[in-house]
Amino acid sequence: MGRVLVTGGAGFLGSHLCEALLDAGHEVIAMDNQVTGRTDNLEDVFYHDRFSFYEHDVTNFIHISGDLDSVIHLASLASPVFYRDHPIKTLKVGALGTHKTLGLAKEKDATYLFASTSEVYGDPDVNPQPEDYRGNVDSYGPRSCYDESKRYGESLVRAYRDEHDIDVRVVRIFNTYGPRMRLDDGRVIPTFAKQALTGEDLTVYGDGQQTRSFCYVSDLIEGILALLEADVQTPVNIGNPDERTIQELAEVIIELTDSDSEITYEPLPPDDPQVRRPDISKAKSELDWEPTVDLEAGLERSLDYFESVV
Ligand code: NAD
Ligand code: UDP
Repeated sequence: MGRVLVTGGAGFLGSHLCEALLDAGHEVIAMDNQVTGRTDNLEDVFYHDRFSFYEHDVTNFIHISGDLDSVIHLASLASPVFYRDHPIKTLKVGALGTHKTLGLAKEKDATYLFASTSEVYGDPDVNPQPEDYRGNVDSYGPRSCYDESKRYGESLVRAYRDEHDIDVRVVRIFNTYGPRMRLDDGRVIPTFAKQALTGEDLTVYGDGQQTRSFCYVSDLIEGILALLEADVQTPVNIGNPDERTIQELAEVIIELTDSDSEITYEPLPPDDPQVRRPDISKAKSELDWEPTVDLEAGLERSLDYFESVV
């Protein structure tokens, strides 16, 4: 079993990943500056004897004593609302944070896993998106701070692999949801859940015909663990290919919560991708991975959580 650093460990995905790594027998060091995450997310593992937490901004030099087997870099602003409000922090964590964590992996001779995103495909003109699709990103658009930070991050990972022979993994994560997402983080599932549970109208942007494909958190974490174990040095999509319109998502959440809320329509944010669906052939063939939790089952589990914190 190994010693693993998880940056962004106090966030939504990071906290679930720390738990899964501990369950698999690893020693886990979580690092986070709590810009959007909270150590409350780690309360079940905080006093575990194989777990430690460092509050640190990963855009600054990182010191860890002792060996490391893996460095998993999840730290980033991740919600469109947060990265719109903090574009500089977003660019810095994707560029400087990726640089510092890669430097650490080089120093420790550790395997490096980078959390990339479906946003590298931008507003895609190919659907579903395979890994060799090069994307349609506006480098000066309102989402570019996030998209370009991740595209630059991937490029830096590639450079460290080529120049320093580091063992690398790149996961392109598609919309993932589940317990511990912040109700105020602006992403669509916690937003609709809060609105439905409190009787507010659900705010569908545009005509609601834009699509997303939602992956439940436990499936995503299994995909990341499978990738870490596999010898695949090129990007891999991890997500659930079950594509839904945002209108449909709103209707399903109203139904599952038995809510009296109605749907209202607000302007579509600029550059909002019209479609998004992962082609997961590579994950299936190289990792023997595919999602198992369908949208309704994942939403039921998530709504139990959202109800407990609303
Ligand atoms: P999150 O906001 O819950 O977690 C991100 C964590 O990173 C937070 O705890 C935050 O405090 C921390 N962080 C940010 N900047 C930091 C810095 N400079 N130093 C230290 N910590 C810092 O978001 P999440 O959904 O858990 O996303 C985790 C990763 O997965 C991100 O890299 C995100 O881009 C990627 N991702 C997530 C999704 C998704 O649907 N959840 C989709 C694509 C990619
Ligand atoms: N969305 C919406 N209402 C909301 C929040 C989001 O209609 O209150 C839409 C948003 O415009 C996008 C989709 O839901 O088309 C997914 O948004 P999210 O912010 O969750 O993630 P994205 O995939 O855009 O990064």
